[in-house]
Amino acid sequence: MTVDVMTRPAVLILLGPPGAGKGTQARMLQEKFGLVQLSTGDLLRAAVKAGTPAGKQAKAVMDAGGLVSDEIVIAILNDRMSEEDCRNGVILDGFPRTTVQAKALDDMLRSTGQRINAAISLRVDDGAMVERISGRSTCAGCGEGYHDTFKPPLADGSCAKCGSTELTRRADDRAETVASRLEAYHAQTAPLIAYYDAAGVLTSVDAMAAIDKVAGDMARVVGSVMS
Ligand code: ADP
Ligand code: ADP
Ligand code: ZN
Repeated sequence: MTVDVMTRPAVLILLGPPGAGKGTQARMLQEKFGLVQLSTGDLLRAAVKAGTPAGKQAKAVMDAGGLVSDEIVIAILNDRMSEEDCRNGVILDGFPRTTVQAKALDDMLRSTGQRINAAISLRVDDGAMVERISGRSTCAGCGEGYHDTFKPPLADGSCAKCGSTELTRRADDRAETVASRLEAYHAQTAPLIAYYDAAGVLTSVDAMAAIDKVAGDMARVVGSVMS
């Protein structure tokens, strides 16, 4: 089957170090454009929680702030991409993170006749990421992301989206782990900026700005590559 260019599902990639705002922006784009956010971090955390063989292997690496093996992550992403709800398009949040993963994604998309509409690099200062990550929390009810200073929950501590009072912090969001995660980003993921630039799909946004300003810039980029 050939896929018409105009109806091809969109594929967007968000690139940026831990804490850059990929998850926050992906959720906003998901609502605005009807795309599905695919976070390999979320998928891996679910595998860890469920105690699957992949989850068991991934856990120690994630706790130490390293990257989970390409083999595991590619398999998990591939399974998720083939589910029905991804047919309108996806926002890849946290994938690819290595050149091997980027090439596997190219192969995956080639086999389904899809292409990458845009790879958006969220530009931030590394120095600001410790504060972003140590203040991060997530609503257990609906997955909404919060920040103690930059995006606090309601005054009574509840989630503004679903009312849940259970906000959780990630096991790996400790100041000690941030350095290894940033190191992994610069060594293994940052080269993808040049990879997607060479492919002609790279755009970057200033992700040091306030959340809503970044969201406006992202929406403009996505709007321009969706048609
Ligand atoms: P990533 O998915 O890239 O690791 P998140 O979207 O989880 O990053 O954001 C990290 C933390 O920083 C969260 O607590 C989030 O609320 C907050 N945050 C996200 N974007 C901004 C921003 N532009 N300014 C200030 N804080 C932000
Ligand atoms: P953050 O955006 O804050 O780095 P994520 O939720 O994207 O957090 O990822 C959490 C952890 O999951 C990473 O530190 C890494 O161990 C693992 N992980 C997520 N995505 C990938 C990937 N594409 N390749 C390898 N490891 C990954
Ligand atoms: Zn909620």
